[in-house]
Amino acid sequence: MLEKAQKVLKTYFGYDDFRNGQKEVINDVINNRDVVAIMPTGAGKSICFQVPAALFSGITIVISPLISLMKDQVDSLNEVGIKATYINSTLDHHEINDRILNMRTGKYKLIYIAPERLESKAFIDTLSTMNIAFIAVDEAHCISQWGHDFRSSYRKIANFINRIHPRPIVGAYTATATEKVKEDIITLLNLDRPPIYVTGFDRPNLYFSVLKGEDRERFILSYLSENKGMTGIIYTSTRREAENIHNLLITNQIKAGLYHAGLSDQERNMAQNKFAYDDIDVMVATNAFGMGIDKSNVRFVIHNNIPKNMEAYYQEAGRAGRDGEKSECILLFAPKDIQLQSYFIDESNLPLERKENEYEKLRAMVDYCHTSQCLRKYILNYFAEDTAYENCGNCSNCNDDSEKVDITLEAQKIFSCVYRMNQRFGVGMVADVLKGSKNKKVLDGGLNHLSTYGIMKEHAKKDIVEMINKLAADNYLNLTNDGYPVLKLTNKAVLILKNAESVYMKVAKTKKRLDIDSELFEILKALRKRIALEGNIPPYIVFSDATLKEMSIYMPVNKMEFLNVKGVGEAKYEKYGEQFLLHINNYIEAEDIEISSLRDTSINSKRSIQKEGKTEKIPSHLITYEIFIQGKTINEIAEIRDVKVRTVENHIIQCLKDGMAVDIQKMVPHEYIGMIKEALKNCQEDKLRSIKEMLPEEVEYFWISLVKYEMILE
Ligand code: ADP
Ligand code: ZN
Repeated sequence: MLEKAQKVLKTYFGYDDFRNGQKEVINDVINNRDVVAIMPTGAGKSICFQVPAALFSGITIVISPLISLMKDQVDSLNEVGIKATYINSTLDHHEINDRILNMRTGKYKLIYIAPERLESKAFIDTLSTMNIAFIAVDEAHCISQWGHDFRSSYRKIANFINRIHPRPIVGAYTATATEKVKEDIITLLNLDRPPIYVTGFDRPNLYFSVLKGEDRERFILSYLSENKGMTGIIYTSTRREAENIHNLLITNQIKAGLYHAGLSDQERNMAQNKFAYDDIDVMVATNAFGMGIDKSNVRFVIHNNIPKNMEAYYQEAGRAGRDGEKSECILLFAPKDIQLQSYFIDESNLPLERKENEYEKLRAMVDYCHTSQCLRKYILNYFAEDTAYENCGNCSNCNDDSEKVDITLEAQKIFSCVYRMNQRFGVGMVADVLKGSKNKKVLDGGLNHLSTYGIMKEHAKKDIVEMINKLAADNYLNLTNDGYPVLKLTNKAVLILKNAESVYMKVAKTKKRLDIDSELFEILKALRKRIALEGNIPPYIVFSDATLKEMSIYMPVNKMEFLNVKGVGEAKYEKYGEQFLLHINNYIEAEDIEISSLRDTSINSKRSIQKEGKTEKIPSHLITYEIFIQGKTINEIAEIRDVKVRTVENHIIQCLKDGMAVDIQKMVPHEYIGMIKEALKNCQEDKLRSIKEMLPEEVEYFWISLVKYEMILE
């Protein structure tokens, strides 16, 4: 039996092995035993009922509380070739009747239903006449008042099960492991002496950190700029805060969405879809966002505020890295947030006993922020799991690798620059002058004649800005409190300038950053996005990030190799294999062009004969793109391809218009980008010529076009 399950896993889902716990749960279910499976978010619960469902000859009913998740899972199943559907309040009467009719004819293996359906006797009557083999209760903790998402309609499930003859197998799935919840699940679902599987709660790919005393907005901005293009969620504890941070991100040109319970259904759906479809990178949300998201490529979850308890925290943080790739969970701790959470408990109309229970949980959450032991160990112990290690080596307590660096000299340069600029400018301008920027404002103000102009040009501007901010946080500099904060020296700074004292800054020795994606990965991601748009499904349903990453590392070139990639099953190969293989082969070929066309024309011509059919299919601007992303300049590409520079420039613009990732900073000198944006915004006419006239002479038309199309796409 288990071999059959293994085969389903490989053929449909494209995975070679079951993960920890999956095998045991599946084995019991297919041998007709009820089970309780407790697995953390991202551990792979769905496989535990989807694989048995594919094997049973009868129907599997999945009871799931969230509508968007339902649709996602159904889409995913149909993608891999397992027939599934759902029935919930988003469908009209006709649609529901159609689906019920199809159920009778045995068209579906799985049917997802919302628990509210079970309130309808007619619906239960209909289902009870069908051949139902298995009932999977997802998010089973919703049945318990002790869980964190009680839903009264879950209490109807036991009655529903009783109505079906013969009694189907029942599996209960959840991420909540407390004793009370476990007991409730077993008794209230009326399970038959089920084994309880608690799979490791550990999520080794997640890096946990708690940061205290950060200027949170500043932290978020700098984190996002260091991890540009990565997908993540920022959780706040109030709507107001979510709105503030969302505004902050938008004004900083970050593609962000907003999600909280105060928005209309339509606004929320739109935000969620944009997030699912990779149209926005960052979702700023309250805890209203989440239960329904199945997006596997979330790379970071930042908690701007402490959540109410560890269950909530681990569930929300656990939305990072479901695909198993390295991801980060950061909690920004501020003591005043504890009061807010206490207030929420206080104001709730829970009975006293439950309130005390909640306070206790909040205390454990606060302890997490203060503990100096390994954070992962703390989490696992909280969920009643022993850990073999003392140090995981992958959390901020295990990796306190910051060191004190003497920045006295840099501080002196900064202070004297502030002084020479008459203490009349903000952080950005001071950094520009120190960097030696040719920014229009700097030049217009004659600031390039100051003796401190360019004295820190060896530093990146953002590092200079960071140093200034730290110096301000430590009271060497004051920022005035008005609309345009200006830097002023304090007495502390004067001591430094007199060489009476030194300044130290704590910096992380190895700056932790998420893995930088390869070029091929970006190409495949763009392809995935196009396919997703055409099929009107979220990109991660086509292939997960983990799957694309494997493709970009192993570069499969034929069907056999392609099927070996984790996450590629038969159905997906049939649908997408050819397109992906084409792009991978083109990429490999483009890599060759670089070597062969420059050095050995005979190899080049031989190769192009071999692959003639293929090369013809690719539009010219895509060939340019593939060379471009290898790091070649416009002139080099023109030479390699033996075409005019203008042609290459047009190709790049075309790529931008196609929505492909083009790093315009490689072509437009950094200091001009802001200026060009400004001109584009202010210019009344849309003619490039009039815009060019507003800008310094050296600005090229090509630069303006690049900035323009990038802005449009933002
Ligand atoms: P959960 O419901 O427990 O939060 P999911 O069922 O959504 O988790 O699974 C999380 C991710 O792990 C999905 O992208 C899924 O495809 C992947 N996954 C599940 N089982 C396996 C497996 N055996 N091997 C590789 N990936 C898996
Ligand atoms: Zn640790």
